[in-house]
Amino acid sequence: MIFTDTHTHLYSSQFQDDRTEMIQRAIDAGVSRFFIPAIDSTYTQKMYDLEALFPDNIFLMMGLHPCYVKENYLEELAKVEAEFAVRTFYAVGEIGVDLFWDKTFLKQQQHAFQHQIQLAKKNKIGINIHCRDAFEETFEVLESEKASDLFGIFHCFTGDFVQAEKAISLGLKLGIGGVSTFKNGKIDQFLDKIDLKHIVLETDAPYLAPNPYRGKRNESSYTVLVAQKLADIYKLPIEEIARITTQNSKDIFGI
Ligand SMILES: [Zn+2]
Repeated sequence: MIFTDTHTHLYSSQFQDDRTEMIQRAIDAGVSRFFIPAIDSTYTQKMYDLEALFPDNIFLMMGLHPCYVKENYLEELAKVEAEFAVRTFYAVGEIGVDLFWDKTFLKQQQHAFQHQIQLAKKNKIGINIHCRDAFEETFEVLESEKASDLFGIFHCFTGDFVQAEKAISLGLKLGIGGVSTFKNGKIDQFLDKIDLKHIVLETDAPYLAPNPYRGKRNESSYTVLVAQKLADIYKLPIEEIARITTQNSKDIFGI
């Protein structure tokens, strides 16, 4: 059984004391493919160090996170492009719009998002979307870039059924993580109406730990708990959830 964690920040300082053991724990649990979203240039070297630690299991994305789109964002975007010039990545991410903390840079966030979607198309790879309190503003950009070569993952999808269908119609899969195990997470109420071919697993570690670890540090081995929740929702053996969601991740990331 192979589980794929399609969104995990394994380079986070929250893992500095036990990073190797934590990753090995996930691999031992069957979670052997980790896709790593970028944040901004201050994390790039940490990502490369992580990749060197488990080169067969770690797959890097590159991009500028919407919460890090500030006055200097054009310089940051240039750094993202400079990385693409020298090596390959498996997606552009995480990118999108986040209005939860701060609305000051909405226009810049949307511009950075669009610019990075175009970068993904140029490199013939997918995108990994971060969207918080900004469905309308995110879809506005996605609609303008809608095309057969637009594809990727709507990470930590927490929208409703209509928004889920809209995301799927734009060529996106839904990244499902710990929120699906929360009592008030809502997403579990309509997931069974969505074909599993549109679903991938993720943790977003160290954030958003699934039950029974809600509120604690999340880690990639907990991908199995999310898979078990989906097995319950879809009434399928967990082996089937692993097989289908890992295949979906291969379709998106090309590996
Ligand atoms: Zn993330």
